[in-house]
Amino acid sequence: MAVAVIEKRTEDGKVIRIVPGPILLLGAPGVGKGTQAKEIMAAWAIPQISTGDILRANVAGGAELGKKAKILMDRGELVPDELVNEMVAARLLQPDTANGYILDGFPRTLGQAEWLDGHLAAQRGSLPVIAVSIQVGYTQLLRRITGRRSCPVCKSIYNIYLQPPKVDELCDLDGTPLTRRSDDTEEVFEERMRTYESLTAPVVEHYRALGRFDEVDGEQPVDAVAAAVMAAVLRLRG
Ligand code: AMP
Repeated sequence: MAVAVIEKRTEDGKVIRIVPGPILLLGAPGVGKGTQAKEIMAAWAIPQISTGDILRANVAGGAELGKKAKILMDRGELVPDELVNEMVAARLLQPDTANGYILDGFPRTLGQAEWLDGHLAAQRGSLPVIAVSIQVGYTQLLRRITGRRSCPVCKSIYNIYLQPPKVDELCDLDGTPLTRRSDDTEEVFEERMRTYESLTAPVVEHYRALGRFDEVDGEQPVDAVAAAVMAAVLRLRG
């Protein structure tokens, strides 16, 4: 993956070069953090780092860590901070993160946020994080989560209510039967929302108070949300 530097034209016609640096996508389960991270990844060639995806890969691989994590994930609870912090630290050593990356689903507790702030401050030359919070109402979140399906092969994401595949439960691109995440049920969603409100909402306030923070309306079409998120990043870095 090419390492990104974004060129932005200012109002007086000058071109300035912006390094994206660490970007946090914040928001409740189902606001579209993963979808938006993929949009930014495609536009700016910086990687998406999703702690949920890394954990699910560990679960699928049958690793001991994955077995313990799955029990918590299936209940809608968080896995311990030390575990996700270590996973993120290891991922940030990869050279593709040099000019920027999108953290999706991390940090999810104040402990993780404080760890991340300290970790980046200790790395010479790292830009400070900027945070963009995506807002979506409860009813819409519930439909997005309980309707969410994905293709286990090409990773395309569908929603049986909002963006159904052409043939029921089959991927449009490769015909593979779609799968549903084991934590995408209404019951687990409610627990994930409780966890979000008590542990993750304070993280949003932490970054709001630091000032390198913006909010976007996540109920617009995907490309409009992506445009708003990218505009917010350029504004915060510009
Ligand atoms: P996600 O794919 O981001 O919705 O994450 C799915 C599940 O993985 C969450 O409900 C948690 O159980 C776990 N998880 C993902 N990221 C974190 C994190 N940063 N801290 C703790 N648990 C996490």
